[in-house]
Amino acid sequence: MTVVDHDVTTGVTAAVQAARAAAPGWAELGFTGRSRRLRAWRRAIARGATELAGLIHREMGKPLPDAMLEIAMALEHLAWAERNAEAVLGPRTVRPGALTANHKCVVEYRPYGVVGVIGPWNYPVFTPLGSIAAALAAGNTVVFKPSEYTPEVGRWLGEAFGDASVLGVVTGDGRTGAALCRSGVDKIGFTGSTATGRRVMAACAESVTPVLMECGGKDALLVDADADLDAAADAAVWGGMSNAGQTCLAVERVYVHRDVHDAFLEKVVALARGVRAGEHIGPVTMPGQVEVIDSHIRDALDRGGRAVLGGPDAVRGRFVEPTILTGVPEDSAAVTEETFGPTLTVTAVADMDEAVELTNRSRYGLGATVFSRRNGEAIARRIRSGAVSVNAFVAHATVPALPLGGTGASGFGRVHGADGLREFAYPRATTAQRFPSPVPLTSFRRPPWADTLVRVLIAVRHGWR
Ligand code: NAP
Repeated sequence: MTVVDHDVTTGVTAAVQAARAAAPGWAELGFTGRSRRLRAWRRAIARGATELAGLIHREMGKPLPDAMLEIAMALEHLAWAERNAEAVLGPRTVRPGALTANHKCVVEYRPYGVVGVIGPWNYPVFTPLGSIAAALAAGNTVVFKPSEYTPEVGRWLGEAFGDASVLGVVTGDGRTGAALCRSGVDKIGFTGSTATGRRVMAACAESVTPVLMECGGKDALLVDADADLDAAADAAVWGGMSNAGQTCLAVERVYVHRDVHDAFLEKVVALARGVRAGEHIGPVTMPGQVEVIDSHIRDALDRGGRAVLGGPDAVRGRFVEPTILTGVPEDSAAVTEETFGPTLTVTAVADMDEAVELTNRSRYGLGATVFSRRNGEAIARRIRSGAVSVNAFVAHATVPALPLGGTGASGFGRVHGADGLREFAYPRATTAQRFPSPVPLTSFRRPPWADTLVRVLIAVRHGWR
């Protein structure tokens, strides 16, 4: 049964109606006009970056320099969408093919109309902006529902844009998101956990509203015997602990070649020991997540794992110190479920075949990191995930031209780059007859010799080679 909260629904309906009314005008601005407006928005965000970083820090707790880095990354993607929308989505002619040589053929990407964007709190600017920038650049108006933990960040972004009918912001809890899914928007761009993603898909299925699903992850870092161990350890600690581990692409599992396991582990522990909760990393944002982190650590230890750093004592209220676990069984929650805390499991493997096999066993498939001097790209090709960074952590997510998204339980569809722009537009095919066909194939006036010609065509074009 769907429970409808009328206050919530009314607010969402009003925002969607305003966006619907503004959609034709926004689309008619064309790529150039929209690009100008997006540039003005980008500049407003850049000018207010200090204030915005302060808001991020206050609402979800990440250190100010990390908040500033998040804004910088988001602006790079916004700039890319603003500058490349026309080249990616604008009309282009394609070859007509043998049966329709007398036609001009054009493909173009048209806006859906109104797009609902539902965002998480862990990267409250970078993550939703990936969808919002592409949706606006493609010619849609947007209604954005930020996380209930970061409503002011959402409002700030909307105010910086300066036109609530083109970019509306609706705040509230999950009920607001649910109402947005049922509001008649033309597409939903969702970023959040896999569990909520399932609910969003179910709600959108009722009206066949298309969805983009950017969900959770359980990313692995693979360390080969020939890896630069200092760089790999640095990537493991930053990838696992930064933002208190609350990153969809966080490193949560490490598979390391047994020949270098001990040396690598020593380096990781030494580095992680220097990372302190409350100083280098913020608190766990959602109080309920502390329990999940604690239960994953305890389960790992109960089942034979060992904490070489941290452990249950590392969980001190909402501040969780880095925890490094070894010897954790592959079927324990710390290996199979998204922990979303500053924890790492480090597991020795016989070779990279085993590392790839264990990496791919996960139901998630968002990103991965590989460290190897000689074989990085070859190992990367064998990993089932939306992206892999070789010899660096998460470099792919910062490259504006590269798509970001997952496979399996990590979702489907893409933000960023050309694929991210196409995500918020539907392809539209047009043909225009330039002159009548000398061979009327699709007419009841088709002469018998035309049938012969079709048979010859099949043989010549497809039967001989
Ligand atoms: P979440 O709890 O799933 O919430 C995500 C968004 O969905 C929030 O705005 C939430 O609103 C809203 N929501 C909740 N229930 C809803 C419903 N029934 N219908 C529609 N919307 C609903 O996720 P989160 O805790 O904010 O974010 C962390 C998760 O996001 C992690 O799993 C992380 O891996 C994932 N993530 C993925 C990516 C990626 O690119 N793949 C990026 C960042 C984060 P409320 O907050 O108000 O409940």
